[in-house]
Amino acid sequence: MRPTGKPHLGNYMGALHNWVRLQNDPQYECYFFIADWHALTTDYADTSQIKQNTLDVAIDYLAAGLDPAGSVIFVQSHIPQHAEFHLLLSMITPLGWLERVPSYKEQQENLTGRDLTTYGFLGYPLLQAADILIYQPDFVPVGQDQAAHVELTREVARRFNQFYKRKPTLMEMSEALLSEDKTAKLGEILPEPQVLLTPSPKVPGTDGRKMSKSYGNTILMSDPEPEIRGKLKTMVTDPARVRRTDPGNPDKCPVGDLHKIFSSQETLAKVYEGCTTAGIGCIECKSWAADAIVSALAPIQQRRAHFEQHPALVADIFNDGARRATARAEQTMHQVRSAMGLDSALDTALDSARSGNSA
Ligand code: SF4
Repeated sequence: MRPTGKPHLGNYMGALHNWVRLQNDPQYECYFFIADWHALTTDYADTSQIKQNTLDVAIDYLAAGLDPAGSVIFVQSHIPQHAEFHLLLSMITPLGWLERVPSYKEQQENLTGRDLTTYGFLGYPLLQAADILIYQPDFVPVGQDQAAHVELTREVARRFNQFYKRKPTLMEMSEALLSEDKTAKLGEILPEPQVLLTPSPKVPGTDGRKMSKSYGNTILMSDPEPEIRGKLKTMVTDPARVRRTDPGNPDKCPVGDLHKIFSSQETLAKVYEGCTTAGIGCIECKSWAADAIVSALAPIQQRRAHFEQHPALVADIFNDGARRATARAEQTMHQVRSAMGLDSALDTALDSARSGNSA
């Protein structure tokens, strides 16, 4: 998640909620980070907010339930190995692969008023690939819209593996000899991670479009109750329901969509009944939606308040996460440097020069 502002309900339902579920599933060992370098790919001109935004996202990660006991949570820029790996991968990545990433052209058209013809912006999917591959993962939990980026990551891994291999261990060699599977990839360093599609509801913003910072239609995870209720009041509804006496259809109403995500079955039944018969007004219906959101956010906001009062605790958690992520990233980088002939290169060259002289 890029720290470009406080996380909203779309971020929560689209990512954080699923991440907590994955973290609590014992079959996964999870790494989650705040992508502050990625924020610079579009917001490079004014970095005055990045520190505060990173802290806000960090607090919302913890408030949502990410827990250092269950996953490794850190800030991207605290792990310089990501940058080193990005540089090394940039040497082997054809320019055309990056230019054809759909979001490259799309975002340049959508984010007007910013010059995105930069080296960093073109390279951000490769930085993502480095962020992923450095942990040698099996899966990347993403929504469908990010699947193309994971495909690029897989291509980069394949190309890297074609050029560079590590020396297999004796155990791996004997296993390969005995293996029926002739596709076994002996000595390959980078896995080709699979997309772990995380189905998530599309959360509508107050104007009915997808909730997004750039549309200015968000309800923040940290919004206090009066703010949430105020935003709901201005939310668009089924356009067919012009007068109080007109029946409406919750399936054509963004407030109805919020009910489907946050309300109980009982409330949802009342919404369908009341809306389609004009038995309730939109104001009442919106107040029920606000009730559901306020109560879903209550435990999150309680945890948020605790971490806001104890910022040193947040720093400790993220420092510890950085230590654990660095250890894991360094394992990969050790293999990568060695396979590329970059480990102690000078020492090795000097050694052979010395042995040449003595001979
Ligand atoms: S009653 Fe509720 S679901 Fe129906 S149009 Fe109004 S806000 Fe939407």
